[in-house]
Amino acid sequence: MFGWLRARRRRRWLTEPFPPMWEETLRRQVKQVERMPAELMEKWRQRIQVFVRETSWEGCRDLKVTDELRVVVAAYATLLVLGFEDEWLSRVRHVLVHPTPYQGRRARIGVEGIDYSQDNWMQQLEDDVEDEHLGEAWCEGGTVIIVWSEVPTSEHLVPPGTNVVLHEFAHVLHELLSSWFPTAYNDRGESWLETFQNEYGRQVRDANRGRRSLLDDYAAESPEEFFCVATECFFERPIRMQSQSPTLFNLLKQCFRIDPMNWMT
Ligand SMILES: [Zn+2]
Repeated sequence: MFGWLRARRRRRWLTEPFPPMWEETLRRQVKQVERMPAELMEKWRQRIQVFVRETSWEGCRDLKVTDELRVVVAAYATLLVLGFEDEWLSRVRHVLVHPTPYQGRRARIGVEGIDYSQDNWMQQLEDDVEDEHLGEAWCEGGTVIIVWSEVPTSEHLVPPGTNVVLHEFAHVLHELLSSWFPTAYNDRGESWLETFQNEYGRQVRDANRGRRSLLDDYAAESPEEFFCVATECFFERPIRMQSQSPTLFNLLKQCFRIDPMNWMT
């Protein structure tokens, strides 16, 4: 779509009031809404409005994609970029939703060229490994896949601090910020990337020693997974992260340009 056309459509959507049913869904399902300062909340609603409408949504295995589902997923996807002025995660064009964890194959090629209207779209990928998936992010094809039963809502019980939407969209952001990481420094002149690598090293050592840590063991899988798992915790359990891992908390605060403590206290 041409940029001006997209901008015009967004402006039109934003003149429409935020649907009361969506507001009700947010209040009931997304706990971060409860204490969100009014100004940020308004910005968040606008992004949800745009994201719900600009994204193509598809339910897998007979899952019906409801407005409630769209609003909850859009809320977490846009919470991630609430601190950015002009970024809308517009790289993500398709969201596929599975009802429950699925047997997936880790593919060797991207999703460009995959025909999702076919039931066998998974088989169109070049297969590598088969295992249980909770979600995937295909940055090049602009597709994010998530499992609805793993999204924290009043009906879904998920381990505290986890959020598959934040996790998969963090993969997208990780790619978008790849050139920013090596150039970022904090007020004391310390390199963002170096500090992050130290934190990752600590995570790996804790995992190897079987020591319990704030983050799930999966965080030790790779620096990128560490970033995504830490992102879930940053937005879901900021108070705990700030007290137990203040260095990591500050790194993410700098990266996301937002402080979740603003809506916790
Ligand atoms: Zn991941």
